[in-house]
Amino acid sequence: MTEPAALQPIDPAVIQEMVGELARFGAWGETGVNRLVYTPEWVAAQDHVAGWCTEAGLEVERDAVGNVWGWLRGRKPGPAIVTGSHIDSQKPGGRFDGALGVAAAVAAVRAVRERHGTPRRTVGVVSLCEEEASRFARTNFWGSRAATGTIAPTEADRMRAIDGPTMAEIMRDVGLDPERIPEAARDDIGAFIELHIEQGPLLEAAGLPVGVVETITGYRQYWIDLRGAANHAGTTPMDLRRDPMAGAAEIVSGVIDTAHRMGRPAVTTVGRMTVEPNGRAVVPERVGFTVDARHPEPEALATLLARHEGRWAEVAARRGLGLAVRVDSDRPPCPCDPALVETLAAAAAEAGVPTMRMTSGAVHDAMQFASVCPVAMLFVRSRGGVSHSPDEDTSAEDAAAGVETLARALARLAS
Ligand SMILES: [Zn+2]
Repeated sequence: MTEPAALQPIDPAVIQEMVGELARFGAWGETGVNRLVYTPEWVAAQDHVAGWCTEAGLEVERDAVGNVWGWLRGRKPGPAIVTGSHIDSQKPGGRFDGALGVAAAVAAVRAVRERHGTPRRTVGVVSLCEEEASRFARTNFWGSRAATGTIAPTEADRMRAIDGPTMAEIMRDVGLDPERIPEAARDDIGAFIELHIEQGPLLEAAGLPVGVVETITGYRQYWIDLRGAANHAGTTPMDLRRDPMAGAAEIVSGVIDTAHRMGRPAVTTVGRMTVEPNGRAVVPERVGFTVDARHPEPEALATLLARHEGRWAEVAARRGLGLAVRVDSDRPPCPCDPALVETLAAAAAEAGVPTMRMTSGAVHDAMQFASVCPVAMLFVRSRGGVSHSPDEDTSAEDAAAGVETLARALARLAS
């Protein structure tokens, strides 16, 4: 391998052009993208990424769920160093979420090949089929879960898209056989590095282009169902009501206040609520709502969750309300591999890219790969901290600084 310092740097215009090319598939308005998994625009985008891989001199492989892999084969057999992200979007989302990580992966691995020729270890690119849960409300990480072998055998038949059909039906429509999902599981990944936009305001506040992620947050998502007694809003005295809205109001303000009082980086969100019968002059019978609570440190997450669970138990008991609690997802914090974190930091320093260490408050495909190999993440500054929106933006210079860091890290790991 040659000395990286003498090399042609990553060209910001090239990365910007790649992001722009992908954004044409499912373009939404001036700057947005609406590209749900297994739609025609998604198929075209994955084909485009496969074309990039071929142009970059990589060996293209498509797996049973439609992930696209590009391999730069190393001289030595053994597990590969893989980088990539997801190709699907929110509806609509921005052009950078996931897509920048896919473009960055191809550009970085191409740079490794152009700068150093055949590496010692195999280096791979992956464009994962689905991460956002935007077409299937209760299924996400379809691509990374398939690759890590954690999709349950009947899941494709059970999971329904928001618009009706099952995952299995939708897969067949694009020529994929859901029976073959287990074949997508791999045992040849030795490390996974994901470059992603930050989707938050911390890098911008710090005036830095790139962050090295040390931990991806843990979280639990609940559905809370409170049942009381529906009655007339005018004739039922306040002291005789069993009002689930009054209970919900106490719980909602309580859990949000708890996260506030714990301080950063604790976060708790109530984002959805349903009311039955939902009438202006009716004390409700039933109020249901989501609670999403997150913290990157295991003990602090446990404390946050315990306080929330205590809150709704106490309020429901005191108000005589029926309480049902469903946990929809539950993940412990995911630490990034310390050696990979150091490699990324060293690569950034070598490239002259200023960075800081940070935690990810959003969940990412890298968490799934953590069950099979060491993982790490690079964040690139998001303008205004905006994400999951067509207004998402990242400068070409910041994106290129991220890709340069990634390319140098891959070269170090593969040599
Ligand atoms: Zn993403």
